[in-house]
Amino acid sequence: MTAKKSCPISAAHKRLMDCHAMWHAVADDYMKPENVRMHLNSLIQGMRNVTFMLQKQKSTLPGFEEWYTEFQAAAKSNPLMRWSVNSRNRIVKESDLELLSEAKVRWIGDWVRKQERNFTFPPRMPSQAILATIFSDPGNPQMGVVTISRRWVDKALPDREILSATREVFINLSTLIATAHNAASPEKCGLAAREPACVTSALATEPLACMDINPGWLQEHFDLEAGRGIEEVAYLVEQTPENCRKSQKRYGSAVNIEGNPIEVAPRIMEQAGKTLMRDKKHVPIIWFFRDNVVVDSMVPIFFNQNGKYLTMHRVADRVESLHANGIIFLNEAWYAKDEKLDKDGQIIPPRDRGRDRCEALHVLVATESGKYASLVTPFTRTIFGKIILGESIIDSGTGLDNDGQFNLLRPVIDRWGKE
Ligand SMILES: [Zn+2]
Ligand SMILES: [Zn+2]
Repeated sequence: MTAKKSCPISAAHKRLMDCHAMWHAVADDYMKPENVRMHLNSLIQGMRNVTFMLQKQKSTLPGFEEWYTEFQAAAKSNPLMRWSVNSRNRIVKESDLELLSEAKVRWIGDWVRKQERNFTFPPRMPSQAILATIFSDPGNPQMGVVTISRRWVDKALPDREILSATREVFINLSTLIATAHNAASPEKCGLAAREPACVTSALATEPLACMDINPGWLQEHFDLEAGRGIEEVAYLVEQTPENCRKSQKRYGSAVNIEGNPIEVAPRIMEQAGKTLMRDKKHVPIIWFFRDNVVVDSMVPIFFNQNGKYLTMHRVADRVESLHANGIIFLNEAWYAKDEKLDKDGQIIPPRDRGRDRCEALHVLVATESGKYASLVTPFTRTIFGKIILGESIIDSGTGLDNDGQFNLLRPVIDRWGKE
């Protein structure tokens, strides 16, 4: 192994890494109130210690007065940073934070109608009681799916869930440490990685993929369809690291998927065609972009239509957690060359078209800045199972139209619109 390398600000940098680990400790024990209190107390004190340690070293850090004053001024005008400092003082000198537990309810009818409604219920109200309250109102039909998420907030910061709030403070501190590091030495930091394995010396200035502020296990999903009453859905989205790794490897080596998502899409389609010819099928893949860099990918699993709604809302959660501003969704779909209307004048979806439909690879792209693209490559299978790819139909840089093909990405597009 290489000789031990050092860190020019190891005291402060190690405290920052401690904070990363402690943040995960809060997240991992999120459903245990006493553990949340305990780990959060440590995390908030730990975050304050990062700046204390840095200040102690100021005489050795070039330009300290300049960049540290800048950081302090920004922190003073940032309510979250002020909350963090006040919370630390409170924890050390007075008492614990006043944590409140909330239940947030998201109710999804379908893609278009009432995509999302939020209710807030008192802490510790059982899920069944929450559902009974919602549906005692005859204006709320029992259709679609309901998601209940539990969350902690501090009374002094009632609008922010604690994982999200502390993550943002962490990113600010990490950015400060990155500045200090660069000032002290241009060399890479030599601090070793820790437990859990995501706690490395890397200095993030954007949300880390491991710090998920919308984790799936904080949510319960209920399917309201089919007269079965209210039934809990065990899980609807699975991040399969194995598949992700495979696809990342396949696409990572075959295609350069860094860049503007609209421009990357044709390269993804080209590679997808090759994969399809070889494998005869293609798993759906979603890539999350932040500023033209892929920050995550996932393989969504759809069990049924309600599962699809939930899955795409989970994808929107992930977009929010990652601060992603672009998304590409590759999947297999049904395609029809023309439009046919049913007796009510509605367009018949290709999946219901019978013999005049065909299979297709479909790549959908959306960005937070409002750019959209849709690429379709129809294909057929010979009786020997060989895949014949048709001509690709590319609709790039379009606005959102009404034919519903962007419905799948609706939850993501709506989430962007909300910020
Ligand atoms: Zn370092
Ligand atoms: Zn982590």
